[in-house]
Amino acid sequence: MGKRVVITGVPGVGKTTVINKGLEILLAEGVTYESINFGTFMFETAVQDGLVRDRDEMRRLDRTIQKRLQKNAAAAIGKNEGNIIIDTHCSVKTPKGYLAGLPEWVLRELNPDTIILVETDEDQILMRRLNDPTRVRDMDSAKEILEHQQFNRSLSAAYAVITGCTVKIVKNQDYLLERAAADMAAVLR
Ligand code: AMP
Ligand code: MG
Repeated sequence: MGKRVVITGVPGVGKTTVINKGLEILLAEGVTYESINFGTFMFETAVQDGLVRDRDEMRRLDRTIQKRLQKNAAAAIGKNEGNIIIDTHCSVKTPKGYLAGLPEWVLRELNPDTIILVETDEDQILMRRLNDPTRVRDMDSAKEILEHQQFNRSLSAAYAVITGCTVKIVKNQDYLLERAAADMAAVLR
């Protein structure tokens, strides 16, 4: 079994960007990880079932449907035997409140060694969301983004207690992507 790293962060914090840059650094050293996007696994099933056309519609589906998609994705991803980095969410902001991204049955399938929380100041995240035309981002206030990040820290502490994994906070501040990628790579090597 390879190393399993879960990487999370609120929408717009730049998780995918940090992952790609961090994996580039590692590849140059001969360290390889397969990057897996949890939402993409869920989305493929959701499209097949005719539930959504856009990945940003999933968080507004009925809670029980989201959980079914989540469970299927975790089971499929958990079968992977190599070094994997899983791009996902500590919690998903749904119209009915925060939905845990890694409830106990997902943790059991993924069995992570480490959870990375990518964070930055809430006002930076607000600006990044406004400047991303490719996604249907929620129009949260800075205070709401702060609340979401705080809730995710609490959840990751709970995930650490359940699994014994470590939790690493990586800051992805404006103009400091290189530092974020280097911090992430240091956890993965
Ligand atoms: P992303 O592209 O990472 O923003 O993920 C797209 C969507 O996938 C999210 O908005 C969620 O609806 C869903 N998703 C991703 N990871 C999880 C998870 N662990 N549990 C539930 N839903 C998730
Ligand atoms: Mg992403």
